[in-house]
Amino acid sequence: MTADPRAEEPLVHLLWLSAGLGCDGESVALTAATQPSIEEIVMGALPGLPRLAMHWPMLDFECGPERGADDFLEWFHRAARGELDPFLLVVEGSVPNEAIKEEGYWSGFGNDPATGQPITTTEWLDRLTPRATAVVAAGTCAAYGGIHAMAGNPTGAMGLPDYLGRDWTSKDGVPIVCVPGCPTQPDNLSETFVYLLYQITGQAPMIPLDENLRPRWLFGQTVHESCHRAGYYEQADFAAGFDSDRCLVKIGCWGPVVKCNVPRRGWINGIGGCPNVGGICIACTMPGFPDKFMPFMDEPAGVQVNRPAGGLYASLVRTLRGITLHNVEKEPAWRRKGDQLTTGYEPSWTASRGTSRGTSRGKGPRHDR
Ligand code: SF4
Ligand code: SF4
Repeated sequence: MTADPRAEEPLVHLLWLSAGLGCDGESVALTAATQPSIEEIVMGALPGLPRLAMHWPMLDFECGPERGADDFLEWFHRAARGELDPFLLVVEGSVPNEAIKEEGYWSGFGNDPATGQPITTTEWLDRLTPRATAVVAAGTCAAYGGIHAMAGNPTGAMGLPDYLGRDWTSKDGVPIVCVPGCPTQPDNLSETFVYLLYQITGQAPMIPLDENLRPRWLFGQTVHESCHRAGYYEQADFAAGFDSDRCLVKIGCWGPVVKCNVPRRGWINGIGGCPNVGGICIACTMPGFPDKFMPFMDEPAGVQVNRPAGGLYASLVRTLRGITLHNVEKEPAWRRKGDQLTTGYEPSWTASRGTSRGTSRGKGPRHDR
């Protein structure tokens, strides 16, 4: 038998806790990542990536009963006992408030061998977060509460930074890393994992995060700043319905005030997106989502102030651009058949070496451009 050539390399564990109040949308989304794909990460296809042992309910081969031969939960117990280091903890779904209940539980994951009772999600967080090298809140629910934390919800749901504290850092000094989105854009998540794997193995500096704990290079710009339709917005050329290729702001797009890179990045392998392909941006990456953006299909009041003055200004801009466009749609006049060269070419030959036939020397091109 051939020895595993990577056996001596460091091994990082990734524990995925999908027991929050969620829909597993982040897990499903990650299977669509291409830059890089989850297979590339797990197989170490990128230079310098450490070996990764992923404990992910979505696709794990270990799915057996507790204390069985392939006990999936045992990795979580081992991590809680301090037997796994380093490990990344990925949290999916919002965190319910178990303190508001007298009995029962909102969400749990496996049973406690000592009591036979379900282990609540918050109990897992209390056991695992002090020992994790870094913690990732995957999706808007885990990051900020999201849809489950809407006004009127019965669970008192919140995001991980609300539960642990916004200033929380891991034992290795890493703040909570939030990768919001509902679901999160697949490559945003896989790229963040790659960054953290490089960081954990000393190949990258501390991950740069913004004030809401999002990776800066992914969430540094607004949807509007990278939307293919921004040119229409600038000219106040707005769609009245969803069958239009114009700017969607009047039918509900929140893009000008939303931090997200989806229009530039596309959804899967550069394809798809939201406003760039005809769907209003409902601000699913934002801490105020969804309450502060509803009803989704009304024109956003807060976005109007950003719009360039409509009416006269927009009509003047459109007219001037129309004139210029009409001109630049035509080729320059010297591109034509005939025995005269009218490009303005100036030959460097002297008279003694001959003349350049047909050249109108010194006259320059005909500037009927
Ligand atoms: S569709 Fe939305 S994001 Fe795109 S230009 Fe219009 S307002 Fe901006
Ligand atoms: S463009 Fe808007 S709706 Fe689409 S993923 Fe980004 S924040 Fe969510």
